[in-house]
Amino acid sequence: RAIVRDLTGVAEQSKVPIQEVDPTVFETRFLRKIKDLGEGHFGKVELCQYDPRGDGRGQLVAVKSLKPESRGQLWREIDTMRELYHHNISSALIMEYLPAGSLKDYLPWRKHQTDLRRLLHYALQICQGMDYLGSQRFIHRDLAARNVLVENESTVKIGDFGLTKSMKEDKSYYTVREETDSPVFWYAPECLVDCKFYPASDVWSFGVTLYELLTYCETSSSPTTVKNFMLRPIQGQMNITQLVEVLMAGRRLPCPPHCPDAVRELGKYRSRISFPSPNPNLNH
Ligand code: ADP
Ligand code: MG
Repeated sequence: RAIVRDLTGVAEQSKVPIQEVDPTVFETRFLRKIKDLGEGHFGKVELCQYDPRGDGRGQLVAVKSLKPESRGQLWREIDTMRELYHHNISSALIMEYLPAGSLKDYLPWRKHQTDLRRLLHYALQICQGMDYLGSQRFIHRDLAARNVLVENESTVKIGDFGLTKSMKEDKSYYTVREETDSPVFWYAPECLVDCKFYPASDVWSFGVTLYELLTYCETSSSPTTVKNFMLRPIQGQMNITQLVEVLMAGRRLPCPPHCPDAVRELGKYRSRISFPSPNPNLNH
C-alpha cells in the first residue's frame, strides 16, 4: 500500500499542471513517438501522441521531421503551409493523423471496394486542391499518389509541400537551383531539360497521378516500374537524358486497363495548355 501511495505521489507530481498547458501551442516535449508512418525524399513522418496532461489520453498526430541536411526545406514548407488553406490541402507539419495514410498506402488494399466513380472523385478533389494552389501562385512540384493523404473513404487531401515553390510576382515558372533527389518519373520534359517548373508542369504530374489512381497504385504498374522498363532496352542504367529521349519520342505510360475513353482524352489535356517554354518541342 505504501508503494502504491508513493507511486501515485510521484505520478501526480510528474503531471504538468493543466493551467500551464496552452491548447493553441504544440510543444515538442509533449510528443511521444508511437511508430514510423513513412519516409520520403527529405525526412520522415512519425505517429505520435500529443499528451500534454501526461495521462496517455492525448490526441494522435502525424509529425514530420527532416534530415538535418534538409532543415532549410522544412522552414520553407512551414512558410508555404502558413499561406495555404483549403479543404483539399493538408495543413501543418504536426498533422492530424490519418490512419489510412496516402493513396499509395490505401488503394492497393481497397481495390475491390473502390469503383471508377470513387477514383474519379479523388481525382476531382486533387484537381480542386491543385487549382487552389495555382490560384495562390504556388507550384507543388511533387504531386504523386504517395503525397495525397486519405482522410476518409470519400475525402483526399494533397500533402507534402516539401518541394512547393512560390512563383515570384513577375514570373510564370520556378527555376530549380540545387536538387538532391527529384521524382523524375512524375516530371514533365521542361523540368528535366530546362529545370523549369510551370503550373503546367504540375498538370503533367497530375496526369501521372491519375494513371496511378487508375492502376490502384499497384507497384507492378507504377510509373517507376513501367518507365524503368521502357528505358531498359536503351541501356542498363537509367539516366535523365534517356528519360528525356523517351518522352520526346512521344512515348508515354500505357493507358491503364478499363480506363474510359473520356478519361483517356483527359490524359492529352496538357497538350492543349500553352505555356511560355523556350523550347517548342516541350509543348506536348
Ligand atoms: P516526405 O517529404 O518525407 O515525402 P510526406 O509528407 O510525403 O513526407 O509523408 C511521407 C509518408 O508518411 C506518406 O506517404 C504517408 O504514407 C505518411 N503520412 C504522411 N502524413 C501522414 C498523416 N497525416 N497521417 C498518416 N500518414 C501520413
Ligand atoms: Mg512525400
